[in-house]
Amino acid sequence: MKPSIQKLQKIFKLEADRGYDNHAVMGGLSRILDVWMNEARADGLPEDLIQLVSERIQDYGRLTEKSRAEMLQGLWRRLQRGNGDELVQESAEQLQPTAETGAPSGITAPEDMLPFEEEQEIFQPERAESTPTTPAPQAAPTAQAVVQETVQPPPPVEPKALNAPLTAVRGIGERLAANLSRLGLHYLRDLLYYFPRRYDDYSRLKPINRLSYGEEVTVIGTVQNISTRPVRSGKLKITEAIVSDGSGSLRVTWFNQDYIARRLHPGMQISLAGKVSQYLGRAVMDNPSWEPLEQEPLVTGRIVPVYSLTEGIRQKWLRTQIHKVVSYWGPRIPDYLPEEIRRSAGLVNLPTAILQAHFPDSWESLQAAQQRLAFDEIFLLHLGALGQKRAWKERAARAFSAESEWLEAQKQRLPFPLTGAQHRVITEIQQDLLSGKPMNRLIQGDVGSGKTAVAAIAIAIIAHHGAQAALMAPTSILAEQHYKTLLSLLTASDKQLDEEHPVSSAPPPLRPDEICLLIGATPEGEKQRIRAALAAGTIKCVVGTHALIEDPVEFADLQLAIIDEQHRFGVEQRAALRAKGDNPHLLVMTATPIPRSLALTIYGDLDLSVIDEMPPGRRPVSTFVLTPRERERAYTLIRNQVAQGRQAFIIYPLIEGNDNNDAKAAVDEHAMLQKEIFPDLNVGLLHGRMRPDEKDAVMEDFRQGKYHILVSTTVIEVGVDVPNASVILIEGANRFGLAQLHQLRGRVGRGAEQSYCLLIPDHPDAAENERLQVMASTNDGFVLAEKDLQQRGPGQFFGVRQSGYAEMQFANLTDIRLVEKACRFAQLLFDQDPNLTRPEHQLLAFALQQSWGGGKGDIS
Ligand code: ADP
Ligand code: MG
Repeated sequence: MKPSIQKLQKIFKLEADRGYDNHAVMGGLSRILDVWMNEARADGLPEDLIQLVSERIQDYGRLTEKSRAEMLQGLWRRLQRGNGDELVQESAEQLQPTAETGAPSGITAPEDMLPFEEEQEIFQPERAESTPTTPAPQAAPTAQAVVQETVQPPPPVEPKALNAPLTAVRGIGERLAANLSRLGLHYLRDLLYYFPRRYDDYSRLKPINRLSYGEEVTVIGTVQNISTRPVRSGKLKITEAIVSDGSGSLRVTWFNQDYIARRLHPGMQISLAGKVSQYLGRAVMDNPSWEPLEQEPLVTGRIVPVYSLTEGIRQKWLRTQIHKVVSYWGPRIPDYLPEEIRRSAGLVNLPTAILQAHFPDSWESLQAAQQRLAFDEIFLLHLGALGQKRAWKERAARAFSAESEWLEAQKQRLPFPLTGAQHRVITEIQQDLLSGKPMNRLIQGDVGSGKTAVAAIAIAIIAHHGAQAALMAPTSILAEQHYKTLLSLLTASDKQLDEEHPVSSAPPPLRPDEICLLIGATPEGEKQRIRAALAAGTIKCVVGTHALIEDPVEFADLQLAIIDEQHRFGVEQRAALRAKGDNPHLLVMTATPIPRSLALTIYGDLDLSVIDEMPPGRRPVSTFVLTPRERERAYTLIRNQVAQGRQAFIIYPLIEGNDNNDAKAAVDEHAMLQKEIFPDLNVGLLHGRMRPDEKDAVMEDFRQGKYHILVSTTVIEVGVDVPNASVILIEGANRFGLAQLHQLRGRVGRGAEQSYCLLIPDHPDAAENERLQVMASTNDGFVLAEKDLQQRGPGQFFGVRQSGYAEMQFANLTDIRLVEKACRFAQLLFDQDPNLTRPEHQLLAFALQQSWGGGKGDIS
């Protein structure tokens, strides 16, 4: 667990023990935030998670004790999901008070460093196989349960012993097992699937007299002499050996590893692998890996796997353990992939793939292994998605009709004529709602393409029939904005629309008191009123943040769940919102354009609608990349725009890895800009450290024109709509991905006037400049998304993180051919045997359960 998360756990637990009196931290929980946010960033926690924690904890003091308990537990569950990272492993239950106060259990002192385990017994597989009871893998307890209950008796999939705890391996005792568990390794099978972080190539063997400085090689030779001596008042021990191979001799030095002197003696043949350096003109090696020659060469003379480690676990030891397990059990794993698929897809079998992925014979065989494992990841994901989609479609949902006359009138009520794409997507939604099956649709539309209006019509249809709808957005700024927009779109009487549009005869779908906003900062009394009204069914539409799912909100009749900027949420959150109703229709929206073929794969369980047309009259944003020296030009442009009555954003990136933090950068720069550059203008400031109500106040002031310029961190990134803003200046632009820059750029260009986006990288670097120039060359989010995918890979890519692709170790989304191939075979198989009931697919059914059981599924 990351230290910053551990700290939270400690505090949450103490709070629980104290009955949520907000005294676990002196002065209140919010006091920890300043320090904690820095620690969390140092730990590499995702920024949205950090912001979430900050928002919640800032509100904490204002909540009732009951809400505090719910909030902390909700937050803890959210942290457990960890945004795709394994941040925490303990369960939510551990937040319950313990008997003894003040001494949080579950927090143990760090394990002692273990001595290097050299004298281990050899692993005996028989012992593991005869382990009487084999517990289900901890990683996916629910999956296991599901398998047991629903998929007949589980077929003899894998040797049972693979479920044995690691202590079944000779040489792994309780203590080492505890250390390994920190790497997520609990059972024998976990070792098989714990793949190397990288590989070092020591396969090039060379005689000593042909060594050159700086190269990484393997040398085989005989130990001439070896000795250890202390230096520097005994704090450092140096072990030195001379190794010769007939062609020459090499001085080898190890620091603080004096046990080596006990293991090696003159006359022994060993192989050494490491980097050659020079000392006084002679070839030497410092701290090389070594092995007695008679052993099967695990380290030297081959491509060597390098694993991620944790305290108390050493590389060489882990490598040996994994080698034992992989070489014994690897060949005994049955291949779940049907033979004909494996052949026609041209893949190696599973045992080969696992063996070669750990201890490759060559780079080619490593690549073949990786191909196979990557194929499996995509294949299983897609197969699971197909199953989910079908399971979802098999359910019944209430059918909602929208008579064309009424619908036409509702469209007429909007303050603008809809684009063709909006019309088309509304028709798709209309058909879904009428189908009697739950809608499960993703709307993809570039920033500013008008997704909100489409959502509004969907809500209108639901409300027209007296049922309820909920819209969940990732930030309170955005939720509030949606609330205001929907309030005006859905409740405005015809009169208000008169000037813009012909009078329509339809009454507004909602009265103002039938729509409400529920966010963390909503006062407790108001929250209670809203909850009561939602439970009674008098509120028809609620707009909110995570508060919608974390608070004990109940609906009388939730029939439509809408999630905006869905990539900011996990599938579990989708499921949680959906679970508030009885098979409600689901609409998720994203501004992250993903190439269509990939979207179909990534969101395999969703139907896809694309709004591929911008509202008329938009002028593409003019984008320029400036060098830091040209900053003055940017300021001049801002000044000119402000003189014309426009407004500007200036964005600062998060600065990671030093004492600065986003708030500081933005705060400092804000002071400087206000004082030195724009003393005559009003410059506002927005950053993640501010309380939600402070943020909202600043945003509102900016929207109303009280500020000419808004200095901000990326908190404004998502969806914020200020049509009068015409310039966005992005500092440190090189730190952002193209997709993210495109999102930021979408903050301007919402009106009909010419808008500008100015990008200034930290340094005048040619390569960065070239990358950023792509922004200047196109306003097409799809083109940028594809570039971003190529340049930064899927891990960095918005929208992918929550889709199951982030957990993939081998699959690379940019390998579109492989993705398409795996999906094609998955579809083929699904068409033949959707439930995987055929005997020859039993292994596959089990593998699918294992890979999907971990909570990737969204059907709840
Ligand atoms: P996004 O798809 O990024 O969520 P919004 O729904 O926020 O986009 O819409 C962006 C802006 O475009 C809003 O100010 C909205 O009023 C306006 N808009 C939406 N649809 C149209 C349309 N068909 N014609 C003109 N303006 C539109
Ligand atoms: Mg939007």
